Amino acid sequence: MTLRRLLLFLLCAIFITSVDAGAASKRIFVTIGTGGVTGVYYPTGGAISRMINKKFKQYGIKATVESTAGSVYNINAVLSGDLEFGIAQSDRQYQAYHGLAEWKKRGPQKKLRSVFSIHPESITLIASVESGIKSLQDLRGRRVNIGNPGSGQLQNSKDVLEAAGIPLSSIHVEQAKAVEAPSLLQDGRIDAFFYTVGHPNGNIKEATSGRLKVRIIPIEGPGIDALLRRYPYYAKTIIPIKFYPKAENTRDVPSIGVKATFVTSADVDEKVVYAITKEVFDNLEEFKKLHPAYAVLTKEKMLQGLSAPIHKGALRYYREAGLLKYINPALIE
Ligand code: GLU
Repeated sequence: MTLRRLLLFLLCAIFITSVDAGAASKRIFVTIGTGGVTGVYYPTGGAISRMINKKFKQYGIKATVESTAGSVYNINAVLSGDLEFGIAQSDRQYQAYHGLAEWKKRGPQKKLRSVFSIHPESITLIASVESGIKSLQDLRGRRVNIGNPGSGQLQNSKDVLEAAGIPLSSIHVEQAKAVEAPSLLQDGRIDAFFYTVGHPNGNIKEATSGRLKVRIIPIEGPGIDALLRRYPYYAKTIIPIKFYPKAENTRDVPSIGVKATFVTSADVDEKVVYAITKEVFDNLEEFKKLHPAYAVLTKEKMLQGLSAPIHKGALRYYREAGLLKYINPALIE
Protein backbone atom coordinates (compact mmCIF):
# COMPACT_ATOMS: atom_id res chain seq x y z
CA MET A 1 0.00 0.00 0.00
CA THR A 2 1.36 3.42 -0.94
CA LEU A 3 1.45 6.12 1.68
CA ARG A 4 -1.35 7.99 -0.12
CA ARG A 5 -3.59 4.93 -0.14
CA LEU A 6 -2.84 4.25 3.50
CA LEU A 7 -3.78 7.82 4.42
CA LEU A 8 -6.98 7.58 2.40
CA PHE A 9 -7.84 4.30 4.12
CA LEU A 10 -7.24 5.80 7.55
CA LEU A 11 -9.36 8.83 6.74
CA CYS A 12 -12.22 6.61 5.57
CA ALA A 13 -11.98 4.51 8.74
CA ILE A 14 -12.12 7.63 10.92
CA PHE A 15 -15.10 8.96 8.94
CA ILE A 16 -17.07 5.69 9.19
CA THR A 17 -16.42 5.37 12.93
CA SER A 18 -17.59 8.92 13.62
CA VAL A 19 -20.77 8.47 11.53
CA ASP A 20 -21.50 5.31 13.49
CA ALA A 21 -20.93 7.05 16.79
CA GLY A 22 -23.28 9.84 15.70
CA ALA A 23 -26.12 7.39 14.93
CA ALA A 24 -25.56 5.54 18.19
CA SER A 25 -25.69 8.70 20.29
CA LYS A 26 -29.14 9.50 18.83
CA ARG A 27 -30.54 6.18 19.99
CA ILE A 28 -32.82 6.35 22.98
CA PHE A 29 -33.10 3.21 25.04
CA VAL A 30 -36.15 2.72 27.22
CA THR A 31 -37.10 -0.23 29.42
CA ILE A 32 -40.61 -1.28 30.35
CA GLY A 33 -41.11 -3.06 33.69
CA THR A 34 -43.70 -5.85 33.47
CA GLY A 35 -44.39 -8.90 35.68
CA GLY A 36 -43.86 -12.66 35.65
CA VAL A 37 -43.40 -14.24 32.23
CA THR A 38 -46.67 -16.23 32.45
CA GLY A 39 -48.82 -13.15 33.20
CA VAL A 40 -50.26 -10.60 30.79
CA TYR A 41 -47.93 -7.69 31.69
CA TYR A 42 -44.93 -9.40 30.13
CA PRO A 43 -46.52 -9.87 26.68
CA THR A 44 -48.06 -6.39 27.06
CA GLY A 45 -44.61 -4.86 27.47
CA GLY A 46 -43.62 -6.85 24.40
CA ALA A 47 -46.62 -5.56 22.42
CA ILE A 48 -45.92 -1.92 23.32
CA SER A 49 -42.21 -2.22 22.57
CA ARG A 50 -42.96 -3.88 19.24
CA MET A 51 -45.16 -0.92 18.20
CA ILE A 52 -42.40 1.61 18.92
CA ASN A 53 -39.42 -0.44 17.72
CA LYS A 54 -41.05 -0.79 14.31
CA LYS A 55 -40.58 2.97 13.90
CA PHE A 56 -36.94 3.01 14.98
CA LYS A 57 -35.91 4.95 11.88
CA GLN A 58 -38.40 7.70 12.67
CA TYR A 59 -37.94 8.03 16.44
CA GLY A 60 -34.60 6.34 17.21
CA ILE A 61 -36.25 4.66 20.21
CA LYS A 62 -35.35 1.11 21.18
CA ALA A 63 -37.65 -0.33 23.83
CA THR A 64 -36.90 -3.47 25.81
CA VAL A 65 -38.92 -5.37 28.36
CA GLU A 66 -37.96 -6.54 31.84
CA SER A 67 -39.72 -9.28 33.83
CA THR A 68 -40.21 -7.93 37.36
CA ALA A 69 -41.99 -8.58 40.68
CA GLY A 70 -45.03 -6.61 39.43
CA SER A 71 -46.95 -3.35 39.90
CA VAL A 72 -45.39 -1.99 43.11
CA TYR A 73 -41.87 -2.78 41.94
CA ASN A 74 -42.56 -1.11 38.58
CA ILE A 75 -43.94 2.08 40.11
CA ASN A 76 -40.94 2.38 42.43
CA ALA A 77 -38.45 1.66 39.65
CA VAL A 78 -40.09 4.30 37.43
CA LEU A 79 -39.97 6.84 40.28
CA SER A 80 -36.30 6.15 41.01
CA GLY A 81 -35.41 6.41 37.30
CA ASP A 82 -34.29 2.76 37.05
CA LEU A 83 -37.02 2.12 34.47
CA GLU A 84 -38.62 4.60 32.07
CA PHE A 85 -41.99 2.86 31.95
CA GLY A 86 -43.90 0.30 33.95
CA ILE A 87 -47.19 -1.53 33.90
CA ALA A 88 -49.13 -1.19 37.13
CA GLN A 89 -52.60 -1.92 38.45
CA SER A 90 -54.93 1.08 38.57
CA ASP A 91 -55.43 0.65 42.34
CA ARG A 92 -51.65 0.68 42.88
CA GLN A 93 -51.31 3.81 40.73
CA TYR A 94 -53.97 5.47 42.92
CA GLN A 95 -52.26 4.38 46.14
CA ALA A 96 -48.79 5.51 45.04
CA TYR A 97 -50.03 8.90 43.89
CA HIS A 98 -51.96 9.44 47.14
CA GLY A 99 -49.38 7.94 49.50
CA LEU A 100 -51.36 4.88 50.63
CA ALA A 101 -50.62 1.16 51.16
CA GLU A 102 -46.88 0.49 50.40
CA TRP A 103 -46.37 4.28 50.03
CA LYS A 104 -47.87 5.27 53.37
CA LYS A 105 -44.49 5.99 54.98
CA ARG A 106 -42.98 7.77 51.95
CA GLY A 107 -46.10 9.83 51.23
CA PRO A 108 -47.69 10.85 47.91
CA GLN A 109 -45.53 10.06 44.88
CA LYS A 110 -46.13 13.27 42.94
CA LYS A 111 -43.76 12.47 40.08
CA LEU A 112 -45.82 9.50 38.97
CA ARG A 113 -47.53 10.05 35.60
CA SER A 114 -50.12 7.98 33.78
CA VAL A 115 -49.98 7.33 30.05
CA PHE A 116 -53.02 5.12 29.35
CA SER A 117 -54.86 2.14 30.76
CA ILE A 118 -54.85 -1.29 29.18
CA HIS A 119 -56.75 -4.56 29.83
CA PRO A 120 -59.01 -5.34 32.80
CA GLU A 121 -57.57 -7.59 35.52
CA SER A 122 -59.54 -9.83 37.87
CA ILE A 123 -58.59 -10.94 41.35
CA THR A 124 -58.28 -14.64 40.62
CA LEU A 125 -58.41 -17.15 43.47
CA ILE A 126 -57.67 -20.68 42.43
CA ALA A 127 -57.71 -23.78 44.66
CA SER A 128 -57.14 -27.49 44.26
CA VAL A 129 -60.36 -29.51 44.26
CA GLU A 130 -58.85 -31.94 46.80
CA SER A 131 -58.42 -29.07 49.29
CA GLY A 132 -62.22 -28.86 49.44
CA ILE A 133 -62.08 -25.05 49.12
CA LYS A 134 -65.24 -23.79 47.40
CA SER A 135 -65.62 -20.31 48.83
CA LEU A 136 -63.55 -17.59 50.47
CA GLN A 137 -64.72 -18.82 53.88
CA ASP A 138 -63.04 -22.20 53.32
CA LEU A 139 -59.58 -20.55 53.25
CA ARG A 140 -59.30 -20.60 57.05
CA GLY A 141 -56.49 -22.88 58.18
CA ARG A 142 -55.24 -23.46 54.62
CA ARG A 143 -51.93 -22.68 52.88
CA VAL A 144 -52.62 -19.72 50.65
CA ASN A 145 -50.24 -17.80 48.40
CA ILE A 146 -51.30 -14.16 48.73
CA GLY A 147 -48.61 -12.73 46.40
CA ASN A 148 -44.97 -11.70 46.51
CA PRO A 149 -43.76 -8.35 47.86
CA GLY A 150 -43.67 -5.89 44.94
CA SER A 151 -46.67 -7.47 43.24
CA GLY A 152 -50.03 -5.86 42.68
CA GLN A 153 -51.97 -8.80 44.07
CA LEU A 154 -50.49 -8.71 47.57
CA GLN A 155 -52.75 -5.85 48.68
CA ASN A 156 -55.75 -7.21 46.72
CA SER A 157 -55.55 -10.53 48.56
CA LYS A 158 -55.34 -8.71 51.90
CA ASP A 159 -58.34 -6.53 51.01
CA VAL A 160 -60.43 -9.53 49.95
CA LEU A 161 -59.54 -11.56 53.03
CA GLU A 162 -60.31 -8.64 55.32
CA ALA A 163 -63.60 -7.97 53.51
CA ALA A 164 -64.55 -11.63 53.94
CA GLY A 165 -63.74 -11.45 57.67
CA ILE A 166 -60.75 -13.80 57.45
CA PRO A 167 -57.79 -12.54 59.50
CA LEU A 168 -54.38 -13.20 57.94
CA SER A 169 -53.43 -14.96 61.17
CA SER A 170 -56.07 -17.62 60.44
CA ILE A 171 -54.36 -18.84 57.25
CA HIS A 172 -50.88 -20.14 56.46
CA VAL A 173 -49.58 -17.29 54.38
CA GLU A 174 -47.19 -17.87 51.47
CA GLN A 175 -45.68 -15.03 49.45
CA ALA A 176 -44.31 -16.74 46.36
CA LYS A 177 -44.16 -15.16 42.92
CA ALA A 178 -47.15 -15.82 40.68
CA VAL A 179 -44.94 -17.61 38.18
CA GLU A 180 -44.19 -20.29 40.81
CA ALA A 181 -47.74 -20.65 42.13
CA PRO A 182 -49.16 -23.14 39.56
CA SER A 183 -46.48 -25.73 40.30
CA LEU A 184 -46.75 -25.17 44.07
CA LEU A 185 -50.50 -25.86 43.74
CA GLN A 186 -50.00 -28.87 41.49
CA ASP A 187 -47.36 -30.31 43.87
CA GLY A 188 -49.79 -29.95 46.79
CA ARG A 189 -47.50 -27.49 48.59
CA ILE A 190 -50.21 -24.81 48.71
CA ASP A 191 -54.00 -25.19 48.70
CA ALA A 192 -54.83 -21.97 46.86
CA PHE A 193 -53.35 -18.84 45.37
CA PHE A 194 -54.42 -15.32 44.52
CA TYR A 195 -53.33 -13.61 41.29
CA THR A 196 -54.63 -10.30 39.97
CA VAL A 197 -54.32 -10.76 36.23
CA GLY A 198 -55.96 -10.33 32.82
CA HIS A 199 -57.59 -13.32 31.11
CA PRO A 200 -56.68 -15.52 29.40
CA ASN A 201 -53.12 -15.98 30.66
CA GLY A 202 -50.51 -18.72 30.70
CA ASN A 203 -50.38 -18.86 34.48
CA ILE A 204 -53.99 -19.93 35.08
CA LYS A 205 -53.80 -22.21 32.01
CA GLU A 206 -50.80 -23.92 33.61
CA ALA A 207 -52.54 -24.17 36.99
CA THR A 208 -55.66 -25.72 35.45
CA SER A 209 -53.87 -28.16 33.13
CA GLY A 210 -51.96 -30.31 35.61
CA ARG A 211 -52.60 -33.66 37.26
CA LEU A 212 -54.64 -32.14 40.12
CA LYS A 213 -58.07 -30.77 39.29
CA VAL A 214 -58.44 -27.13 40.29
CA ARG A 215 -61.31 -24.72 40.76
CA ILE A 216 -61.54 -20.95 40.40
CA ILE A 217 -63.26 -19.58 43.52
CA PRO A 218 -65.85 -16.76 43.28
CA ILE A 219 -64.95 -13.49 44.98
CA GLU A 220 -68.40 -12.41 46.14
CA GLY A 221 -70.64 -11.91 49.15
CA PRO A 222 -71.82 -9.07 51.41
CA GLY A 223 -68.26 -8.28 52.57
CA ILE A 224 -67.12 -7.90 48.96
CA ASP A 225 -70.11 -5.65 48.20
CA ALA A 226 -69.03 -3.42 51.09
CA LEU A 227 -65.46 -3.41 49.72
CA LEU A 228 -66.77 -2.24 46.33
CA ARG A 229 -68.57 0.64 48.03
CA ARG A 230 -65.48 1.58 50.02
CA TYR A 231 -62.78 1.70 47.33
CA PRO A 232 -63.25 3.64 44.06
CA TYR A 233 -60.88 1.45 42.04
CA TYR A 234 -62.53 -1.97 42.45
CA ALA A 235 -65.31 -3.06 40.09
CA LYS A 236 -67.23 -6.31 39.51
CA THR A 237 -65.77 -8.60 36.84
CA ILE A 238 -66.39 -12.05 35.37
CA ILE A 239 -63.70 -14.64 34.64
CA PRO A 240 -64.84 -16.40 31.44
CA ILE A 241 -64.45 -20.13 32.02
CA LYS A 242 -64.17 -20.79 28.26
CA PHE A 243 -60.53 -19.72 28.62
CA TYR A 244 -59.85 -22.56 31.07
CA PRO A 245 -61.75 -25.62 29.85
CA LYS A 246 -59.78 -27.95 32.16
CA ALA A 247 -60.88 -26.15 35.35
CA GLU A 248 -63.52 -27.88 37.50
CA ASN A 249 -65.92 -24.91 37.10
CA THR A 250 -68.74 -25.17 34.60
CA ARG A 251 -69.82 -21.51 34.69
CA ASP A 252 -68.15 -18.11 34.46
CA VAL A 253 -66.77 -17.02 37.82
CA PRO A 254 -67.78 -13.71 39.45
CA SER A 255 -64.96 -11.65 40.87
CA ILE A 256 -63.80 -8.08 41.29
CA GLY A 257 -60.94 -6.35 39.59
CA VAL A 258 -58.93 -3.36 38.47
CA LYS A 259 -57.21 -2.29 35.28
CA ALA A 260 -53.65 -2.58 34.04
CA THR A 261 -52.21 0.87 33.37
CA PHE A 262 -49.08 2.18 31.67
CA VAL A 263 -47.12 4.57 33.89
CA THR A 264 -44.01 6.72 33.74
CA SER A 265 -42.33 9.57 35.60
CA ALA A 266 -42.63 13.32 35.03
CA ASP A 267 -38.85 13.20 34.35
CA VAL A 268 -39.17 11.05 31.23
CA ASP A 269 -38.67 12.91 27.92
CA GLU A 270 -41.86 14.30 26.42
CA LYS A 271 -40.88 13.17 22.90
CA VAL A 272 -40.52 9.54 23.99
CA VAL A 273 -43.87 9.42 25.78
CA TYR A 274 -45.54 11.16 22.82
CA ALA A 275 -44.09 8.65 20.34
CA ILE A 276 -45.15 5.57 22.32
CA THR A 277 -48.66 6.93 22.94
CA LYS A 278 -49.08 7.84 19.29
CA GLU A 279 -47.89 4.47 17.98
CA VAL A 280 -50.20 2.49 20.30
CA PHE A 281 -53.27 4.69 19.68
CA ASP A 282 -52.81 5.26 15.94
CA ASN A 283 -52.39 1.50 15.46
CA LEU A 284 -54.86 0.29 18.09
CA GLU A 285 -56.51 -2.34 15.88
CA GLU A 286 -53.13 -3.90 15.18
CA PHE A 287 -52.15 -3.63 18.87
CA LYS A 288 -55.38 -5.40 19.93
CA LYS A 289 -54.44 -8.44 17.85
CA LEU A 290 -51.34 -8.98 19.99
CA HIS A 291 -53.23 -10.44 23.01
CA PRO A 292 -56.79 -11.77 23.51
CA ALA A 293 -57.08 -9.80 26.80
CA TYR A 294 -57.15 -6.58 24.70
CA ALA A 295 -60.38 -7.55 22.89
CA VAL A 296 -62.44 -5.03 24.93
CA LEU A 297 -60.11 -2.05 24.42
CA THR A 298 -61.30 1.23 22.91
CA LYS A 299 -59.53 4.61 22.89
CA GLU A 300 -62.12 5.94 25.31
CA LYS A 301 -61.72 3.04 27.78
CA MET A 302 -57.93 3.41 27.64
CA LEU A 303 -58.30 6.88 29.13
CA GLN A 304 -60.32 5.71 32.14
CA GLY A 305 -59.09 4.19 35.40
CA LEU A 306 -56.15 6.62 35.73
CA SER A 307 -55.41 8.63 38.88
CA ALA A 308 -51.95 10.18 38.39
CA PRO A 309 -51.79 13.23 36.07
CA ILE A 310 -51.35 12.37 32.38
CA HIS A 311 -47.71 12.79 31.24
CA LYS A 312 -47.32 15.89 29.06
CA GLY A 313 -46.03 13.88 26.08
CA ALA A 314 -49.14 11.70 26.13
CA LEU A 315 -51.33 14.76 26.61
CA ARG A 316 -49.86 16.37 23.51
CA TYR A 317 -50.96 13.34 21.48
CA TYR A 318 -54.46 13.22 23.07
CA ARG A 319 -54.93 16.90 22.30
CA GLU A 320 -53.89 16.42 18.65
CA ALA A 321 -56.07 13.32 18.28
CA GLY A 322 -59.16 15.00 19.78
CA LEU A 323 -59.26 12.61 22.74
CA LEU A 324 -59.14 15.14 25.59
CA LYS A 325 -62.91 14.84 26.02
CA TYR A 326 -62.46 11.33 27.46
CA ILE A 327 -59.98 12.44 30.15
CA ASN A 328 -60.90 13.45 33.69
CA PRO A 329 -59.98 17.19 33.72
CA ALA A 330 -58.38 16.74 37.16
CA LEU A 331 -55.61 14.71 35.46
CA ILE A 332 -54.69 17.47 33.01
CA GLU A 333 -51.94 19.74 34.36
N1 GLU B 1 -51.27 -7.61 38.36
C1 GLU B 1 -50.00 -8.25 38.61
C2 GLU B 1 -49.11 -7.31 39.40
O1 GLU B 1 -49.35 -6.15 39.44
C3 GLU B 1 -49.28 -8.67 37.35
C4 GLU B 1 -50.14 -9.37 36.36
C5 GLU B 1 -49.45 -9.72 35.09
O2 GLU B 1 -48.23 -9.85 35.07
O3 GLU B 1 -50.17 -9.85 34.09
O4 GLU B 1 -48.15 -7.70 39.99
